[in-house]
This record gives sequence, C-alpha cells and structure tokens, in this order.
Amino acid sequence: MKYLNENKPEQSTWESDLKIIDKIKVIVPLKLLLVCNSIVAKLDGEEFSIVTNIKSKTSDTITLSDDYYIPKQKVTAASIDYLPDQYSHSVVIHRHPDNLNNFSRTDNEFINQNFELSLLYTEKDYFVNGIFNLKYEDAIIPVPVKPVIDYGLEEIDIANIEPIIYSTRVDSLAGRNETKGLNDIDDFLYSYEELFNEINELNSRLEFLETELQQNRLSEVVT
Ligand SMILES: [Zn+2]
Repeated sequence: MKYLNENKPEQSTWESDLKIIDKIKVIVPLKLLLVCNSIVAKLDGEEFSIVTNIKSKTSDTITLSDDYYIPKQKVTAASIDYLPDQYSHSVVIHRHPDNLNNFSRTDNEFINQNFELSLLYTEKDYFVNGIFNLKYEDAIIPVPVKPVIDYGLEEIDIANIEPIIYSTRVDSLAGRNETKGLNDIDDFLYSYEELFNEINELNSRLEFLETELQQNRLSEVVT
C-alpha cells in the first residue's frame, strides 16, 4: 500500500468545505403568526400584508424580528394595493387563500422585488413559502426559503417535574393487591414482568408443597 502514489490535484480551485445552501431557513417568531391569525379573524377572507425586519442573519438562517407594521393597503380576496405610506422594513408577509402556496406573477413583480425577504402566509398552513433576494454585484438572486415558526419551546427543561408512576404489586403470600398511588384503572393493570414473577412464585410454592406432601406421605409410611 505504501508504494501507491498519491494522486492529488495540485491545488483545488474550489474549497470543498463550503456549505451548500439550497434553502435558507427563516425563523419566524410566534408573535408574527398570532398577528397574522388575528388579522385573518378580523377580515372576511381578504388578502393582507404586514412588514417586519431581519433581526439576525447567518449564511443559512435568517431570524425575523417580532416588531411589525401594517402598511396602508386596499385589499380584496385576491389582491393587495399598497397606498402611499412611510416605512422602511425589509421583510414582507402577505396572505393567500388556503392551498395557494405559491407566489403569483404579480407577487414577484410588485411585492417580492421590493423587499429583501418575502413570505407567504395562509390561514390553514401558516407560513408556506418564501423568497430571499440575495444581492450579488448589481443583481439579485432569489433564493427559496423554508419558514419555521419559533414557538419558543425548544429549551423547556422539565427536570423539576417528577411524574408519579402508579404501580400495582401483588402481595402473593397475603393474597391481596398492594397498590401504590390511588388509581382505579391501575388496580387491574399488571405488567408482563409482574405476571411472570407471580407465576414463577406460585410455581415454586407448588413445588414446595408437593415436596412437603411427598415427605409427609413417606414419613407416614415409615412410621
Ligand atoms: Zn400573492
């Protein structure tokens, strides 16, 4: 093996340890979902949009701020017309009817191009789609995104909560059930292991009695 020549390219022109990103993850704070849900509840099926900002960004993950603004807009069930207004947010979220999870041509021309990041929301499936406009020299490259709702639940540590496990032990010698914890259903539940041990114990008692009986008989015969 040591005589094999290493066939290695002189110098790689492309760093092989670069990350490959086919979708940027967008973390949406729960508050923005609740805001969208609440606007839906106040409207009668119309589209709408809200704007927010990017709070932080790495090469593959964008986290949104939970501050938002509702731009002045005229809406129907199929359109949004933005009215003159003053705001400078870089992220837009707009609502579509359920199951319409793709951007329309109008969306691409009039909404997506005017913001760094654009997300689609539906009442049924929440944040269903998105486009991030990656700036590259004098152009923008639209990169698909995967919106993920941050419910703020990941770090819940339940180490301080100790569930009481109800267990039923059968005191076979006394012939009664000894139940720890008061739970009617558990009085009748036995684990496989408990039954197995119980049968084994009964077996050995039977053997013991048989032996006793035999010895008794023998001793009777002898005496
Ligand atoms: Zn749209």
